[in-house]
Amino acid sequence: MRWDNLTDEPAGHGRVPDAALFGADAVTTRTFDTPEFRGTTFHEVRARSVLNRVPGASRMPFEWTVNPYRGCSHACVYCFARKTHGYLDLDTGIGFDTQIVVKVNAPEVLRRQLGSGRWRGDHVAMGTNVDCYQRAEGRYRLMPGIISALTEHANPFSILTKGTLILRDLGLLVRAAEVTDVGISVSVGFLDTGLWRTVEPGTPAPERRLDVVRALGEHGIGCGVLMAPVIPFLGDRPEQLRATVEAVAAAGAASVTPLVLHLRPGAREWFMAWLAEHHPDLVRRYERMYAGGSYAPTWYQRRITRQVHELAREYGIGPTRAGAARLVRTAQPAPLPETAEPTQLTLM
Ligand code: SF4
Repeated sequence: MRWDNLTDEPAGHGRVPDAALFGADAVTTRTFDTPEFRGTTFHEVRARSVLNRVPGASRMPFEWTVNPYRGCSHACVYCFARKTHGYLDLDTGIGFDTQIVVKVNAPEVLRRQLGSGRWRGDHVAMGTNVDCYQRAEGRYRLMPGIISALTEHANPFSILTKGTLILRDLGLLVRAAEVTDVGISVSVGFLDTGLWRTVEPGTPAPERRLDVVRALGEHGIGCGVLMAPVIPFLGDRPEQLRATVEAVAAAGAASVTPLVLHLRPGAREWFMAWLAEHHPDLVRRYERMYAGGSYAPTWYQRRITRQVHELAREYGIGPTRAGAARLVRTAQPAPLPETAEPTQLTLM
């Protein structure tokens, strides 16, 4: 069990270790018998540090991240953060969706770290591993304290999310934007309802996410859309791309940035099992398309990017802003040490 970098208490010190999952290390395990959280287990840890330096920072578009959660109830089949659950000896399939690690002291630790004389005020990216506005946030309410701490220190930050829960914190975001750079991006890869229900089963509907874009814009916070993932053969038909970009434009997005599905180990197995169940006729085509590794062929990625950019011009969506671009990375990050905080970008 690799919890040493997450916890600040010695083993056995007033904690409730789950021996089956966590050996003797520091975790309080909770379940809640409400429809929203039935079947989900929360592992509460007290973190020593929540500002995570991105390993191999020169290859990433930002240097620091804050991730108050690990695991994600949004349960996207293609989520490549699944692999990072394996670093905790947790299951990367259903376990990733239902075993959620919560850094319950994240706001207070962040406040302390931002106030340290060693902190230089660098940009902090959130939502880069798992969604900080997943369902658990409705109960644990960590983001208000995190945003408030960043605001108090006028520290620039960005959030990438699929969660409509971010609107709960709209007032805090507006106040933050008055004193520092705030970049918000919402992920909407497609509008297809049938595809959404099966491939992103725990997320708010794409239209509700676009409502977030609209609401943020109405309050003066420009919001980009990460059009991700564009799913080959299921979400890439010209009329599908057009409908999505048209809706993104109608929501008033400041930018739209397409990103084709990639399938890294951990996500690949889970996605291919889903594909075999829901679209068995596509399995061979996917095996051929991703035969070279985790990424679709360059020609395909370029084609999608060109199509989306042309549509964006047609519908009058502005060029990608730096804030949104910071959250988009198609290059393969350096492999993470097993004890490091996961810092890969997800396809949120
Ligand atoms: S892609 Fe994002 S929203 Fe979906 S499960 Fe992964 S972290 Fe959660």
